[in-house]
Amino acid sequence: MAGDNPEAQYIAGGTNLIDLMKRGVTSPAKLIDINHLPLRKIEHRNDRVRIGALALNSDVAEHRLIQTRQPLLAQALLAGASGQLRNMATVGGNLLQRTRCSYFYDLALPCNKRKPGSGCGAEEGINRTHAIFFAGNGFGGIEKSSCLAVHPSDMCVALTALETTVVVNGPDGERRVMMKDFHRLTTQQPELDTNLRPGELITAIEVEDNAFARHSHYLKVRDRASYAFALVSVAAALQIDGGKIWDARMALGGVAHKPWRYWAVDLMLRGQAPSEKLFREVAEHEMKSAKATEQNAFKIRLTSNAIVAALKLAAGIS
Ligand code: SF4
Repeated sequence: MAGDNPEAQYIAGGTNLIDLMKRGVTSPAKLIDINHLPLRKIEHRNDRVRIGALALNSDVAEHRLIQTRQPLLAQALLAGASGQLRNMATVGGNLLQRTRCSYFYDLALPCNKRKPGSGCGAEEGINRTHAIFFAGNGFGGIEKSSCLAVHPSDMCVALTALETTVVVNGPDGERRVMMKDFHRLTTQQPELDTNLRPGELITAIEVEDNAFARHSHYLKVRDRASYAFALVSVAAALQIDGGKIWDARMALGGVAHKPWRYWAVDLMLRGQAPSEKLFREVAEHEMKSAKATEQNAFKIRLTSNAIVAALKLAAGIS
């Protein structure tokens, strides 16, 4: 177990870790290959879909259970990476993806995430793709120890909207972590992306049954049509009956250090008839707390428009 050696790391698909090692961003003293573990099963059990951590992204996206019960997750997986990468990447690895901030990958430049206390190259550098939402809305004078990077995973945005549980196992046994608590915002320790404890291994994720399958949509806005990370993404899930919305969930990608859960969306939409006017009000409400860097003010309008578009697509209105 990696808990015996703090310098050790688990490896499965290796689609991000090998890249980080080649560039010298990370250099674990020991790699523990976990591909032989029986963690690939995708099944429906006790009112939830349980997906083993070693299930491949492509297998999850194409699985009948996911396509019929959790289509938002299938859409997000198909929006991420290339077919080749999806055939290698695992669900557990997807949860642990590191940011694609270019300063993080360039050893010659300062980066608090790679080398805590060295500064943030993006703060006064190229920050067009960086965050617009921060811990406690505290941006505006970025703390010296902090980080403006965004979380890169599409899958995690859908999982956050769906209030997924992450099952982990470690030296202290099994524990279950809600997606909202799995990744971290940065005010301190930007080198840490998650709240995993030393030696812990993700073993599965669980998505509870819900009534969103007929009205959900994952919208990804990016600079080019394929193999690009999101400038902004929206996972929107609605339960609509009798012409009214009875439940709503939303998470945003490409806007914060972790998938950004839009908590007020349910309160604002519940009991209302879907309309573009209503969705615009919802979008603009959340954007009031967004803070742009020098180069990414465009993301505030872009995110607002993406929220409206995703909600319209989920609701099936033109
Ligand atoms: Fe490093 Fe984060 Fe700053 Fe990028 S935004 S340079 S990852 S500290």
